[in-house]
Amino acid sequence: MTILTKAEAEPAPQDSQPFLSVRDLYVQFATEDGTVKAVDGLSFDLERGKTLGIVGESGSGKSVTNMAILGLHNPRNTMVKGEILLDGQELTGASERTLEKLRGKKMAMIFQDSLTALSPYYTVGRQIAEPYMKHMGASRKAARARAIEMLDKVGIPQAKIRVDDYPHQFSGGMRQRAMIAMSLVCDPALVIADEPTTALDVTVQAQILDLLKELQRETGTAIILITHDLGVIANTADDVVVMYAGRAVERGTVREILKEPQHPYAWGLLGSIPRLSASVDVPLSPIPGSPPSLLNPPSGCPFHPRCAFTGQVGGDRCSRERPSIPLGERRGSACHLSPDQKQDIFIEQIKPRLR
Ligand code: SF4
Repeated sequence: MTILTKAEAEPAPQDSQPFLSVRDLYVQFATEDGTVKAVDGLSFDLERGKTLGIVGESGSGKSVTNMAILGLHNPRNTMVKGEILLDGQELTGASERTLEKLRGKKMAMIFQDSLTALSPYYTVGRQIAEPYMKHMGASRKAARARAIEMLDKVGIPQAKIRVDDYPHQFSGGMRQRAMIAMSLVCDPALVIADEPTTALDVTVQAQILDLLKELQRETGTAIILITHDLGVIANTADDVVVMYAGRAVERGTVREILKEPQHPYAWGLLGSIPRLSASVDVPLSPIPGSPPSLLNPPSGCPFHPRCAFTGQVGGDRCSRERPSIPLGERRGSACHLSPDQKQDIFIEQIKPRLR
Protein backbone atom coordinates (compact mmCIF):
# COMPACT_ATOMS: atom_id res chain seq x y z
CA MET A 1 0.00 0.00 0.00
CA THR A 2 1.41 3.43 -0.91
CA ILE A 3 0.83 5.92 1.84
CA LEU A 4 1.40 9.51 0.73
CA THR A 5 2.32 11.39 3.86
CA LYS A 6 1.43 15.03 4.54
CA ALA A 7 5.13 15.97 4.28
CA GLU A 8 5.31 14.50 0.76
CA ALA A 9 2.09 16.17 -0.32
CA GLU A 10 3.10 19.64 0.90
CA PRO A 11 6.47 20.84 2.18
CA ALA A 12 6.19 21.99 5.82
CA PRO A 13 6.94 25.63 6.68
CA GLN A 14 10.44 26.25 8.06
CA ASP A 15 10.41 27.40 11.66
CA SER A 16 12.93 25.85 14.00
CA GLN A 17 11.75 27.53 17.20
CA PRO A 18 9.57 25.06 19.13
CA PHE A 19 6.26 26.64 20.03
CA LEU A 20 5.54 23.89 22.54
CA SER A 21 8.35 22.16 24.35
CA VAL A 22 7.68 19.24 26.72
CA ARG A 23 10.73 18.05 28.69
CA ASP A 24 10.98 15.06 31.00
CA LEU A 25 7.29 15.05 31.87
CA TYR A 26 6.03 12.76 34.63
CA VAL A 27 2.36 12.38 35.58
CA GLN A 28 1.47 10.11 38.50
CA PHE A 29 -1.89 9.41 40.14
CA ALA A 30 -2.27 8.40 43.77
CA THR A 31 -4.82 5.56 43.99
CA GLU A 32 -5.91 3.20 46.78
CA ASP A 33 -3.84 0.48 45.14
CA GLY A 34 -0.67 2.55 44.77
CA THR A 35 0.90 5.08 42.42
CA VAL A 36 -0.05 4.91 38.74
CA LYS A 37 2.86 6.09 36.57
CA ALA A 38 0.79 7.31 33.64
CA VAL A 39 3.52 9.40 31.96
CA ASP A 40 7.09 8.47 32.68
CA GLY A 41 9.71 10.93 31.41
CA LEU A 42 8.25 12.12 28.10
CA SER A 43 9.85 14.81 25.89
CA PHE A 44 8.81 16.31 22.56
CA ASP A 45 8.65 19.59 20.63
CA LEU A 46 5.99 21.07 18.37
CA GLU A 47 6.40 24.00 16.00
CA ARG A 48 3.76 26.47 14.84
CA GLY A 49 1.79 25.34 11.82
CA LYS A 50 2.79 21.70 12.36
CA THR A 51 0.92 18.62 13.49
CA LEU A 52 2.38 16.14 15.95
CA GLY A 53 0.70 12.75 16.01
CA ILE A 54 0.84 10.96 19.37
CA VAL A 55 0.10 7.30 18.77
CA GLY A 56 -0.39 4.35 21.11
CA GLU A 57 -2.89 1.93 22.58
CA SER A 58 -5.35 2.90 25.33
CA GLY A 59 -3.50 3.49 28.57
CA SER A 60 -0.23 4.47 26.87
CA GLY A 61 -0.39 7.98 28.38
CA LYS A 62 -1.47 9.95 25.29
CA SER A 63 -4.52 11.62 26.75
CA VAL A 64 -2.96 12.06 30.21
CA THR A 65 -0.08 13.98 28.58
CA ASN A 66 -2.45 16.35 26.89
CA MET A 67 -4.54 16.84 30.03
CA ALA A 68 -1.26 17.88 31.70
CA ILE A 69 -0.56 20.44 28.94
CA LEU A 70 -4.05 21.89 29.42
CA GLY A 71 -3.65 21.79 33.23
CA LEU A 72 -6.79 19.68 33.67
CA HIS A 73 -5.50 17.20 36.28
CA ASN A 74 -6.74 17.38 39.84
CA PRO A 75 -3.71 18.53 41.89
CA ARG A 76 -5.08 16.75 44.98
CA ASN A 77 -4.38 13.29 43.59
CA THR A 78 -2.08 13.96 40.63
CA MET A 79 1.62 14.78 40.57
CA VAL A 80 2.79 16.56 37.40
CA LYS A 81 6.56 17.08 37.15
CA GLY A 82 8.75 18.32 34.30
CA GLU A 83 8.72 21.27 31.94
CA ILE A 84 5.89 22.31 29.62
CA LEU A 85 6.80 25.52 27.80
CA LEU A 86 4.11 27.05 25.59
CA ASP A 87 5.44 29.98 23.58
CA GLY A 88 8.03 30.49 26.32
CA GLN A 89 5.50 30.33 29.18
CA GLU A 90 5.94 27.57 31.80
CA LEU A 91 2.66 25.69 32.34
CA THR A 92 3.77 23.17 34.99
CA GLY A 93 2.86 24.72 38.30
CA ALA A 94 1.02 27.67 36.68
CA SER A 95 -1.98 28.92 38.68
CA GLU A 96 -5.49 27.78 37.78
CA ARG A 97 -6.27 31.40 36.91
CA THR A 98 -3.43 31.52 34.36
CA LEU A 99 -4.39 28.16 32.86
CA GLU A 100 -8.05 29.14 32.69
CA LYS A 101 -7.08 32.22 30.66
CA LEU A 102 -4.91 30.16 28.31
CA ARG A 103 -7.54 27.44 27.76
CA GLY A 104 -9.89 28.46 25.02
CA LYS A 105 -7.87 31.50 23.99
CA LYS A 106 -4.36 30.20 23.40
CA MET A 107 -4.95 26.45 23.57
CA ALA A 108 -8.07 24.40 22.94
CA MET A 109 -9.18 20.80 22.89
CA ILE A 110 -11.28 18.87 20.38
CA PHE A 111 -12.81 15.84 22.07
CA GLN A 112 -13.68 12.43 20.68
CA ASP A 113 -17.30 12.57 21.67
CA SER A 114 -19.17 15.70 20.60
CA LEU A 115 -22.27 14.60 22.53
CA THR A 116 -20.33 14.85 25.79
CA ALA A 117 -18.58 18.09 24.87
CA LEU A 118 -21.72 19.94 23.72
CA SER A 119 -24.49 20.65 26.21
CA PRO A 120 -27.93 19.45 25.07
CA TYR A 121 -29.56 22.42 26.86
CA TYR A 122 -28.10 25.27 24.79
CA THR A 123 -28.14 26.05 21.09
CA VAL A 124 -25.01 25.25 19.10
CA GLY A 125 -24.58 28.97 18.35
CA ARG A 126 -24.67 29.96 22.00
CA GLN A 127 -22.05 27.35 22.88
CA ILE A 128 -19.72 28.69 20.19
CA ALA A 129 -20.40 32.33 21.16
CA GLU A 130 -19.84 31.89 24.95
CA PRO A 131 -16.04 31.37 24.87
CA TYR A 132 -15.71 34.21 22.34
CA MET A 133 -17.46 36.60 24.74
CA LYS A 134 -15.52 35.30 27.74
CA HIS A 135 -12.02 35.30 26.26
CA MET A 136 -12.22 38.04 23.62
CA GLY A 137 -14.55 40.42 25.46
CA ALA A 138 -16.96 40.46 22.51
CA SER A 139 -20.56 41.68 22.73
CA ARG A 140 -23.42 39.16 22.39
CA LYS A 141 -24.15 40.44 18.88
CA ALA A 142 -20.53 40.21 17.73
CA ALA A 143 -20.20 36.74 19.27
CA ARG A 144 -23.32 35.52 17.43
CA ALA A 145 -21.91 36.86 14.15
CA ARG A 146 -18.64 35.06 14.94
CA ALA A 147 -20.53 31.80 15.69
CA ILE A 148 -22.23 32.01 12.28
CA GLU A 149 -18.87 32.73 10.62
CA MET A 150 -17.29 29.72 12.35
CA LEU A 151 -20.17 27.37 11.47
CA ASP A 152 -19.84 28.52 7.88
CA LYS A 153 -16.08 27.97 7.99
CA VAL A 154 -16.43 24.38 9.21
CA GLY A 155 -18.90 23.64 6.42
CA ILE A 156 -22.30 23.71 8.13
CA PRO A 157 -24.84 24.60 5.41
CA GLN A 158 -27.25 27.48 6.12
CA ALA A 159 -25.18 28.55 9.10
CA LYS A 160 -27.37 31.62 9.73
CA ILE A 161 -30.33 29.30 10.39
CA ARG A 162 -28.56 26.30 11.94
CA VAL A 163 -26.88 28.54 14.54
CA ASP A 164 -30.13 28.34 16.54
CA ASP A 165 -30.34 24.53 16.42
CA TYR A 166 -29.68 22.33 19.44
CA PRO A 167 -26.97 19.64 19.23
CA HIS A 168 -29.51 16.82 18.85
CA GLN A 169 -30.73 18.47 15.62
CA PHE A 170 -27.25 17.99 14.08
CA SER A 171 -25.90 14.71 12.63
CA GLY A 172 -22.79 13.16 14.26
CA GLY A 173 -20.47 14.66 11.62
CA MET A 174 -22.10 18.10 11.95
CA ARG A 175 -21.77 17.99 15.75
CA GLN A 176 -18.07 17.21 15.38
CA ARG A 177 -17.73 20.19 13.02
CA ALA A 178 -19.61 22.38 15.52
CA MET A 179 -17.26 21.26 18.27
CA ILE A 180 -14.28 22.17 16.07
CA ALA A 181 -15.89 25.59 15.51
CA MET A 182 -16.28 25.98 19.29
CA SER A 183 -12.63 25.01 19.91
CA LEU A 184 -11.26 27.34 17.23
CA VAL A 185 -13.53 30.35 17.80
CA CYS A 186 -10.78 32.34 19.60
CA ASP A 187 -8.08 31.35 17.06
CA PRO A 188 -6.03 29.29 19.56
CA ALA A 189 -2.37 28.82 18.71
CA LEU A 190 -2.42 25.21 19.96
CA VAL A 191 -5.20 22.68 19.36
CA ILE A 192 -5.22 19.26 20.97
CA ALA A 193 -7.46 16.84 19.08
CA ASP A 194 -8.08 13.66 21.11
CA GLU A 195 -9.26 10.87 18.78
CA PRO A 196 -11.36 13.51 16.95
CA THR A 197 -12.71 11.10 14.35
CA THR A 198 -12.95 7.74 16.14
CA ALA A 199 -16.73 7.86 16.52
CA LEU A 200 -17.34 8.82 12.86
CA ASP A 201 -17.69 6.78 9.69
CA VAL A 202 -14.76 6.71 7.30
CA THR A 203 -16.06 9.35 4.85
CA VAL A 204 -16.88 11.87 7.56
CA GLN A 205 -13.55 11.02 9.25
CA ALA A 206 -11.66 12.06 6.10
CA GLN A 207 -13.72 15.26 5.81
CA ILE A 208 -13.00 16.26 9.43
CA LEU A 209 -9.25 15.61 9.05
CA ASP A 210 -9.23 17.64 5.81
CA LEU A 211 -11.05 20.44 7.59
CA LEU A 212 -8.46 20.52 10.38
CA LYS A 213 -5.65 20.69 7.82
CA GLU A 214 -7.38 23.51 5.96
CA LEU A 215 -7.94 25.53 9.13
CA GLN A 216 -4.31 24.94 10.08
CA ARG A 217 -3.13 26.26 6.71
CA GLU A 218 -5.22 29.41 7.23
CA THR A 219 -4.22 30.15 10.81
CA GLY A 220 -0.85 28.43 11.39
CA THR A 221 -2.25 26.60 14.43
CA ALA A 222 -0.05 23.92 15.99
CA ILE A 223 -1.98 20.67 16.39
CA ILE A 224 -1.46 17.63 18.59
CA LEU A 225 -3.42 14.73 17.17
CA ILE A 226 -3.92 11.86 19.60
CA THR A 227 -4.87 8.55 18.06
CA HIS A 228 -4.49 4.80 18.41
CA ASP A 229 -4.59 4.52 14.61
CA LEU A 230 -1.46 5.04 12.48
CA GLY A 231 -3.72 5.25 9.41
CA VAL A 232 -5.25 8.50 10.74
CA ILE A 233 -1.90 10.27 11.08
CA ALA A 234 -0.62 9.17 7.65
CA ASN A 235 -1.71 12.25 5.75
CA THR A 236 -2.37 14.54 8.70
CA ALA A 237 0.78 14.63 10.87
CA ASP A 238 4.26 16.03 10.23
CA ASP A 239 5.98 14.35 13.17
CA VAL A 240 5.02 11.39 15.32
CA VAL A 241 5.70 10.19 18.85
CA VAL A 242 4.82 6.54 19.49
CA MET A 243 3.96 6.03 23.17
CA TYR A 244 3.99 2.84 25.22
CA ALA A 245 3.51 2.58 28.98
CA GLY A 246 3.80 6.34 29.45
CA ARG A 247 7.05 6.66 27.51
CA ALA A 248 8.10 7.66 23.99
CA VAL A 249 9.34 4.46 22.36
CA GLU A 250 9.87 5.95 18.90
CA ARG A 251 10.04 9.43 17.46
CA GLY A 252 10.48 10.75 13.92
CA THR A 253 8.79 12.35 10.94
CA VAL A 254 5.57 10.70 9.80
CA ARG A 255 7.44 9.31 6.80
CA GLU A 256 10.16 7.78 8.97
CA ILE A 257 7.63 6.19 11.32
CA LEU A 258 5.44 4.78 8.54
CA LYS A 259 8.12 3.73 6.08
CA GLU A 260 11.17 2.92 8.24
CA PRO A 261 9.88 2.22 11.75
CA GLN A 262 12.55 1.00 14.18
CA HIS A 263 10.72 -0.16 17.30
CA PRO A 264 9.04 -3.59 17.64
CA TYR A 265 5.93 -1.93 19.10
CA ALA A 266 5.65 0.40 16.05
CA TRP A 267 6.05 -2.67 13.82
CA GLY A 268 3.14 -4.24 15.70
CA LEU A 269 0.97 -1.13 15.28
CA LEU A 270 1.68 -1.01 11.54
CA GLY A 271 0.91 -4.71 11.19
CA SER A 272 -2.52 -4.21 12.71
CA ILE A 273 -3.70 -1.61 10.11
CA PRO A 274 -6.20 -3.08 7.61
CA ARG A 275 -4.86 -2.79 4.03
CA LEU A 276 -7.00 -2.53 0.94
CA SER A 277 -4.34 -4.25 -1.14
CA ALA A 278 -4.09 -7.28 1.17
CA SER A 279 -5.82 -10.53 0.25
CA VAL A 280 -8.88 -11.31 2.37
CA ASP A 281 -7.11 -14.54 3.36
CA VAL A 282 -4.28 -12.61 5.04
CA PRO A 283 -5.31 -12.03 8.66
CA LEU A 284 -4.40 -8.83 10.52
CA SER A 285 -1.62 -9.33 13.05
CA PRO A 286 -2.70 -7.85 16.37
CA ILE A 287 0.06 -7.28 18.92
CA PRO A 288 0.01 -10.28 21.28
CA GLY A 289 -0.70 -9.73 24.98
CA SER A 290 -2.12 -6.62 26.55
CA PRO A 291 -0.78 -3.23 27.65
CA PRO A 292 1.10 -3.38 30.96
CA SER A 293 -0.21 -2.31 34.35
CA LEU A 294 0.99 1.21 35.10
CA LEU A 295 0.71 0.45 38.83
CA ASN A 296 3.41 -2.12 38.51
CA PRO A 297 5.11 -1.73 35.11
CA PRO A 298 7.47 -4.46 33.86
CA SER A 299 11.16 -4.10 34.68
CA GLY A 300 13.61 -3.11 31.95
CA CYS A 301 11.94 -2.40 28.60
CA PRO A 302 8.19 -2.16 29.35
CA PHE A 303 7.43 -3.88 26.02
CA HIS A 304 9.53 -6.99 26.80
CA PRO A 305 6.63 -9.30 27.86
CA ARG A 306 5.07 -8.78 24.40
CA CYS A 307 8.18 -8.51 22.26
CA ALA A 308 9.25 -11.24 19.83
CA PHE A 309 12.82 -9.94 19.49
CA THR A 310 14.26 -10.15 23.01
CA GLY A 311 16.32 -13.18 21.95
CA GLN A 312 18.16 -11.08 19.36
CA VAL A 313 19.27 -8.61 22.03
CA GLY A 314 20.65 -11.50 24.06
CA GLY A 315 20.79 -12.45 27.75
CA ASP A 316 18.21 -10.81 29.99
CA ARG A 317 19.07 -7.25 28.94
CA CYS A 318 15.51 -6.46 27.76
CA SER A 319 13.96 -7.37 31.12
CA ARG A 320 16.77 -5.76 33.12
CA GLU A 321 17.81 -2.55 31.40
CA ARG A 322 15.43 0.21 30.38
CA PRO A 323 16.17 1.64 26.90
CA SER A 324 15.44 5.28 26.13
CA ILE A 325 15.73 7.79 23.29
CA PRO A 326 18.58 10.18 24.12
CA LEU A 327 17.23 13.61 25.09
CA GLY A 328 17.29 16.06 22.20
CA GLU A 329 17.45 13.36 19.52
CA ARG A 330 14.88 14.17 16.85
CA ARG A 331 14.81 10.64 15.42
CA GLY A 332 15.19 7.53 17.50
CA SER A 333 13.71 4.51 19.21
CA ALA A 334 13.96 3.17 22.75
CA CYS A 335 15.13 -0.37 21.99
CA HIS A 336 18.32 -2.34 22.69
CA LEU A 337 18.47 -3.82 19.17
CA SER A 338 21.41 -2.34 17.23
CA PRO A 339 20.65 -0.01 14.27
CA ASP A 340 21.70 -2.80 11.86
CA GLN A 341 19.46 -5.36 13.60
CA LYS A 342 16.48 -2.96 13.46
CA GLN A 343 17.03 -2.36 9.76
CA ASP A 344 17.55 -6.05 8.90
CA ILE A 345 14.51 -7.25 10.89
CA PHE A 346 12.31 -4.56 9.37
CA ILE A 347 13.38 -5.27 5.78
CA GLU A 348 13.40 -9.07 6.03
CA GLN A 349 10.54 -9.85 8.43
CA ILE A 350 8.20 -6.89 8.85
CA LYS A 351 8.06 -5.07 5.51
CA PRO A 352 6.93 -8.09 3.46
CA ARG A 353 3.94 -8.45 5.80
CA LEU A 354 2.91 -4.82 5.28
CA ARG A 355 2.41 -5.07 1.51
FE1 SF4 B 1 11.89 -5.68 22.35
FE2 SF4 B 1 14.09 -5.61 23.85
FE3 SF4 B 1 13.70 -3.74 21.99
FE4 SF4 B 1 12.23 -3.77 24.20
S1 SF4 B 1 14.44 -3.42 24.09
S2 SF4 B 1 11.50 -3.48 22.14
S3 SF4 B 1 12.01 -5.95 24.55
S4 SF4 B 1 13.99 -5.93 21.63
